Amino acid sequence: MLITDISRMRETVKSLKKEGKSIGFVPTMGYLHEGHVSLIRCSRKDNDITVVSIFVNPIQFGKNEDLDRYPRDLERDIEICKREGVDYLFYPDVRQMYPEGYSTYVVVEGLTEGLCGAFRPGHFKGVTTVVMKLFNIVQPDRAYFGKKDYQQYVVIKKMVEDLNMDVQIIGCPIIREEDGLAMSSRNKYLSPEERESALSLSRALFTAKEIFEKGETDPEKIKQKMRQIIQSYPHIRDIQYIEIVDPKTLQPKKRVEKGDVIALAVYVGDTRLIDNITL
Ligand code: AMP
Repeated sequence: MLITDISRMRETVKSLKKEGKSIGFVPTMGYLHEGHVSLIRCSRKDNDITVVSIFVNPIQFGKNEDLDRYPRDLERDIEICKREGVDYLFYPDVRQMYPEGYSTYVVVEGLTEGLCGAFRPGHFKGVTTVVMKLFNIVQPDRAYFGKKDYQQYVVIKKMVEDLNMDVQIIGCPIIREEDGLAMSSRNKYLSPEERESALSLSRALFTAKEIFEKGETDPEKIKQKMRQIIQSYPHIRDIQYIEIVDPKTLQPKKRVEKGDVIALAVYVGDTRLIDNITL
């Protein structure tokens, strides 16, 4: 079930394909939680075989980001995969994925420039490159991405469309804790007090949705109210962005409409959190 070798993974996929099995794929960076589990369950429903990958992809982290402290717990992840009926857990190491002299990258232009792309230069280039590599290795029929990382989901869809790749990209809903906090491996970084302040993100998003549903269509007014809510909490170090965008183009809206996405990134203490909501 655990496969660490790229060549082993390829051979396995080859024989599964020969048997006519459909393959669902859930790429992750590990430290699995209910958000990941929801993707696994979707994949299990739609496909004969489900492959999960765990790979903390160094090239999608910026210099001063959290690559070195990114949470890991392989034993626990293996248990979760077993419990959820995952067929193969692909866990390659960095040197295999990026051997010395590695020099090929995939870039999606446009969609990657705003939102997180504006604050994390090179991030999406790292994401699209690793996802392309993983798709080439696993050759899935369907791949599952969480809308928690909404921009990532749209960027991957675009890559697949532009490069005529034969894989269906399926976006799955955001899974939240009972109090509204979007699940994330990075929530582990939060102290109890910061965890309380992290609730400001979802509260601002839920309030924004309510205001919109009561008739407000001016993005500035909605964003201002959201800022107010978030800044009323302690430990908020920086609101990187709050944007209301078109769900496909990710361009900021002048008038807010049903179906638009409100996305934000906020530093709570030293932890950068993202969240979004679809109106
Ligand atoms: P990560 O391990 O954080 O790179 O996430 C792997 C996949 O799980 C990505 O497609 C994420 O969007 C998805 N994911 C992470 N958190 C959640 C969540 N709270 N709800 C739904 N999907 C999620």
